[in-house]
Amino acid sequence: MVFTVFNTLSRQKEQFIPLHKDKVGMYTCGPTVYNFPHIGNYRAYAFGDLLKRYLRFKGFKVTHVMNITDVDDKTIRDSRKEGVSLRDFTTRYTQAFFEDLQALRITDADTFCRATDHIQEMISIVSRLLEKGMAYKGEDGSVYFKVSAFDHYGKLAHLDLEALKAGASGRVKSDEYTKENAHDFALWKAYSDEDGDVVWDAPFGRGRPGWHIECSAMSSRFLGDTFDIHTGGVDLIFPHHQNEIAQSEGASGKPFVKYWMHNEWLLVDGEKMSKSKGNFYTLRDLLKRGFSPLAVKYVLVSSHYRQQLNFTFDGVKAAESAIERLQNLIVALQQTKAGRSDGTTAELVGALKSGFEEAMDDDLNVSEGLAVLFDFVKEVNGKLGQGDVGLQDAKIYLDALKDIDSVFGVMSFDQKRLDEEIDVLVQKREEARKKRDFKTSDSIRDELKAKGIVLEDTSQGVRWKRA
Ligand code: AMP
Ligand code: ZN
Repeated sequence: MVFTVFNTLSRQKEQFIPLHKDKVGMYTCGPTVYNFPHIGNYRAYAFGDLLKRYLRFKGFKVTHVMNITDVDDKTIRDSRKEGVSLRDFTTRYTQAFFEDLQALRITDADTFCRATDHIQEMISIVSRLLEKGMAYKGEDGSVYFKVSAFDHYGKLAHLDLEALKAGASGRVKSDEYTKENAHDFALWKAYSDEDGDVVWDAPFGRGRPGWHIECSAMSSRFLGDTFDIHTGGVDLIFPHHQNEIAQSEGASGKPFVKYWMHNEWLLVDGEKMSKSKGNFYTLRDLLKRGFSPLAVKYVLVSSHYRQQLNFTFDGVKAAESAIERLQNLIVALQQTKAGRSDGTTAELVGALKSGFEEAMDDDLNVSEGLAVLFDFVKEVNGKLGQGDVGLQDAKIYLDALKDIDSVFGVMSFDQKRLDEEIDVLVQKREEARKKRDFKTSDSIRDELKAKGIVLEDTSQGVRWKRA
C-alpha cells in the first residue's frame, strides 16, 4: 500500500518514497532546555514519534535524530541568573525532557545531540558560506547569511521575498542595524558581555552559534547533506526551517530535505498554548491533577496532526475512557482460559490490519485508524460475551493489538504497566478524598473494584491488592 504524506514544500500530499530503498533519515527539531516543556511542545514530539513508529510499522528502517538546544539567549540568561554553569543548567532540563518522553512513551531518537557538542561542525559551515560569498561579517563582528545570495529563499514558507518584513522572527536576537538586508539572519553571534563564559573561538571571531545553524550542522553530521524527513511545529516553517534550507543547501550545493512535515497547534480556549501567553500546562501539572501520562499521550496523538487541537480536561477524561476500553479488552483476553473458536479470528484481524493501514497511509489519518480499532474492540468484546474466543484466538487478538500499539504507544500488556496505572488511579482517588470530592473518589473506587482491585487503609496510607 502507498503511504502518502503532506509535504509543506509542495503543499500537497505526495507518495512517500525514501531516498535510499527502505532506509529513512529523519530529523526533528528538539527543545530549548531552559525550563519544562509544555504539552503543546509534546504535541510536536508525539507527532514526530507517531510518524516514526508508523514508518517502522510499515517496515522502513528509520534513523531519527533530535537536537537539544543547549545554548541560546534564554539558556544563557537563565543559567547566569541562577549562577550555575550553562552545562549544569541545561542538563537539568534535558533530564526532565527525557523523563517526560518516557512517561509519554515517545520513543527515544537514535541520536540526541546537544548543540554545544557540535560547535566545530557549525563553524565549518559558516566558514564555507563565507568562502562562497553567501555570508558576511557585520560591523558588530557577527556573521550573517546573505539571503539575496540564495535563489530559493522563501520556497518552503511560500514567501515573496519582497514582502518579507524586517524582524518577522521573534526567535533571533535582533542586530538589525549591522545587517545588509533586513531578511539576513545571524549564523554566528559576536561575543557580548551578557554571554559570560559562554564563548567559542572561530576563524571569523569569538562568539556563539545562531539558533538555525545548529540544526543544519547536526542534521548533516548524523544524516548526511540530503535526507528524507524533517519535522517540527508550524511556527518553525518560517524563519527556522527556511533558514536551515538556505544554510544547508548554500553550503553543500545539494538538496537538503525531501519531505517537510509540520504539526499544527495545541490550543487552550482557542489560543495557541505557549510559554509567553502563560496558558500552558506541563506534563507535571497534569500528573499532579491525577491524569495519567498515557491519557495525555492519547489526546496528543488521536487528532490529525495538521488540525489544530483544543486541549481540555474533558478531552483527557475521554482519552482515559478510550484507554480503559482497550485495557479491559486486553485483560479479558489475557484471562481467557477456554472457549470455542467461531473461526472468524483471521478475518477479523485481517480487517483490522488492512483498515488501519489504509487509514494511516493517508497522511496518518488517525481518527479513521482509531475508528477501525474500536470497531475491532467491539467485535471481539461481543465474541468474548458469547464464549467464542478460544485460547489461541485470544493470543492472536492480543498480538494484533500489540501490533497496532507499536504505532500509538498507549496500551499496556505487562503486569508492571498495569500496576502503574492502578497506582495513578489510587492516587487520584486520594486527591479527590482530600478535596472532599466524594463523588469522584467513589466512582474511582467503583472503577477499581470493577478491575478486581481492593483498597485497604493502612497507617502508611492506602494500599491496594488484587482480589
Ligand atoms: P520550542 O522549544 O519553542 O522550539 O518548541 C519545540 C517544538 O514545540 C517546536 O516544534 C514547536 O513548533 C512546538 N510547539 C510549541 N508550541 C506548540 C503548541 N502550542 N502546539 C503544538 N506545537 C507546539
Ligand atoms: Zn531545528
